Amino acid sequence: MVGVLRVVLFAGTLAMGSWLGLGKPTFDQARAFVEKAKGEASARADAKAKADAKVNADANADAKDADANANANAGGDLGNVPSMRPWPELNAEASIPKAWMVAEGPLYRAGSGRRLVTLTFDDGPFPETTPTVLRILAKKKIHASFFVIGRYLDGEDARAQASREALKQVAAGGHLIGNHTHDHALLTAVTHTQVLEQIDEGAASIERVTGKRPILFRPPFGKLDDFGQAAVRERGLDLLLWSVEKQDMQRADSHEVFRELVGQIEYKEGGIVLLHDIRWTSIAVLRELLEWLQLHRWDPKRPSRVGYEIVDLPTYLREVAAAPLPYATRDELERAREVAAHERSDSREPRQLREPGEKRPVVNRVRSCAVAHDTSSRRSLSRR
Ligand SMILES: [Zn+2]
Repeated sequence: MVGVLRVVLFAGTLAMGSWLGLGKPTFDQARAFVEKAKGEASARADAKAKADAKVNADANADAKDADANANANAGGDLGNVPSMRPWPELNAEASIPKAWMVAEGPLYRAGSGRRLVTLTFDDGPFPETTPTVLRILAKKKIHASFFVIGRYLDGEDARAQASREALKQVAAGGHLIGNHTHDHALLTAVTHTQVLEQIDEGAASIERVTGKRPILFRPPFGKLDDFGQAAVRERGLDLLLWSVEKQDMQRADSHEVFRELVGQIEYKEGGIVLLHDIRWTSIAVLRELLEWLQLHRWDPKRPSRVGYEIVDLPTYLREVAAAPLPYATRDELERAREVAAHERSDSREPRQLREPGEKRPVVNRVRSCAVAHDTSSRRSLSRR
């Protein structure tokens, strides 16, 4: 037992230490470590089983056999050795429909108003804009996730060097870095060979800069066919999509994008927000969004009142693992949201249980912009 505990503690320390800045081990290192730990533990278990058997034979104490067997079994069972990921693996099959569901977040307890938001930035790094995003996040002590394009990091020209510097700053800021392919290819429209190249070369470009092979993968446009899903699965990558997005790449009016994002955050009760760290418009959206989330933050002193908490991706995924939404697909979830909204509008009931005397939560307070239409009245999917 002690031996097993030691393995567990060591693995835990390593995983934690890595997360806290010692550098995340590569997937291969992680796998090698777990395999080694398994081997050592099972050798210890064998030795212990032999020793126990001898003790038991010597003492001729039949009653102890059961305990000895239990110990030997416990010694060989490494189910509780933590994975090297600092977050739970929720979609080992790398299924796109499941990835969309995971992105929708956890099932929130009835009576709790705490809603989670995590930020992701795609298509960088851009030396012009990424450092500004990093400064904004650092000021608010937010850890986000960046899905980057490998090609920007390759080569010896000044721009490539500046892009590599920007990515190093992302890593130094404590943010997660994921692979967004080498050339931002639509992976359902290229050959199988190209799918593999896009994933592997993107990862290699990132690893050359950060020293770490990314575990997170986000396909451009969220599109991946069966072949692509199998490739992601075989590489042990975590497929990570998003739930809140309003085309910040295509639009010029940042205030409008912000308002629609907020509408979606209220309707979906938080989520994984997708922005792009390569446009000034997106940075303006980010500033407004953070201001709004701050104004509407969750208050632990009034836990039933709906409010938002910005968390890092591992925290978000841990909460999803602890309480997954009970729907197989996003369509099922959407139908449940519609029904809940309909019931609320029939009963004229507020969506959230409130303590006696507590005022209705004030929403849409920012800069007199009436935030997105009808969504505030159908914000909550009441979980029963
Ligand atoms: Zn993209």
